[in-house]
Amino acid sequence: MMPETKPASSSVRSLPAAAASRSMVDSFGRRIEYLRISVTDKCNLRCVYCMPVEGLPWLKRDEILDYEEIARVVRVMAKMGLRRLRITGGEPLVRRDLSSLIRMLSAIDGIENIALSTNAVLLEDQAEDLKAAGIDRVNISLDSLRADRADTIARRPGTLDKVLRGLDAAEAVGFHPIKLNVVLMRDSNDDEIADFAAITRERPWHIRFIEIMPTGSNTDLSADSFISCNEALARVRQLGDLKPVEGPLGNGPATYYRFDDAPGTIGVITPMSHNFCDRCNRMRLTADGQLRPCLFGSIQTDLRSALRRGDDIRPLVEETLRIKPERHWLVQGSTEGSGGLIALSQTGG
Ligand code: SAM
Ligand code: SF4
Repeated sequence: MMPETKPASSSVRSLPAAAASRSMVDSFGRRIEYLRISVTDKCNLRCVYCMPVEGLPWLKRDEILDYEEIARVVRVMAKMGLRRLRITGGEPLVRRDLSSLIRMLSAIDGIENIALSTNAVLLEDQAEDLKAAGIDRVNISLDSLRADRADTIARRPGTLDKVLRGLDAAEAVGFHPIKLNVVLMRDSNDDEIADFAAITRERPWHIRFIEIMPTGSNTDLSADSFISCNEALARVRQLGDLKPVEGPLGNGPATYYRFDDAPGTIGVITPMSHNFCDRCNRMRLTADGQLRPCLFGSIQTDLRSALRRGDDIRPLVEETLRIKPERHWLVQGSTEGSGGLIALSQTGG
């Protein structure tokens, strides 16, 4: 396991004075250094567990933060201790000229690392520009290695081929590390757990199995097809000895394992079976400028109005930090605790 945040008992008092003045610590002692920025709510896929096939009521153009507004939020938070960013969505690569945002963000003092979460469908064409602009590493979502099945899950034809070309491009430009996110669904892709795990013996990739989370648009699916990461790991262990290891560089809640001599690792993300909120190190900025202290729940602070009035947003960030909840209360098979969220694409996942 690789907790990248200090445990809840850590205290700002233990930091050197200069660092302490640039730290965001919440009411439970968790240091927040990581912001997930959703740049759009739109997507070019319709993954069965994420979005309804007809899409969602999309945000209007003027509701979405422009790049300068996003950069202003990051400048303020970087002065408060923000260190790492993840660009997500919806599908971030559908937003026009994403590289120009990345250039603005990577120039901000204090920002050490910028990651991208993408379905990789458009990555082949954009990888080089994004790398040059300042993206360091990528998480790519891919739920099946079989073309017909990948299309069925993503509800778009030709998905696998495009994603694999995106993965090749990611390697070619030198994103590091490369993580592959696989949402597990019983009787859909769980017979591929071994195939995904086997990739780590050949490639230096980090395969992460994710437990499906309930949202307003997937309650039945998430109840019927839930499969725990413990079960996935038990199946992987049939292929060989797995040792717990420190995972790759990242900001996340995954726990990692490795086969002997394998270049890659296998990670599990268990929001349902093992809550990992005690080591949460993040906040989220939605495409329409809401600062969310937790993926789930209804707490959010409207930064957009303040930004557009020209107000100082620092007090709003401080207040959001203060009310960051101790944990989420997701319950398997129900939307209880999800705060009415229809899809993770609305908050950036
Ligand atoms: N479009 C990009 C992608 O798919 O990687 C970024 C946004 S997506 C919302 C971020 C992550 O959330 C993806 O890895 C996706 O598989 C995951 N995700 C979406 N809905 C989920 C759900 N209901 N349960 C578990 N993971 C989910
Ligand atoms: Fe789009 Fe990502 Fe949601 Fe799939 S998981 S529909 S790629 S936002």
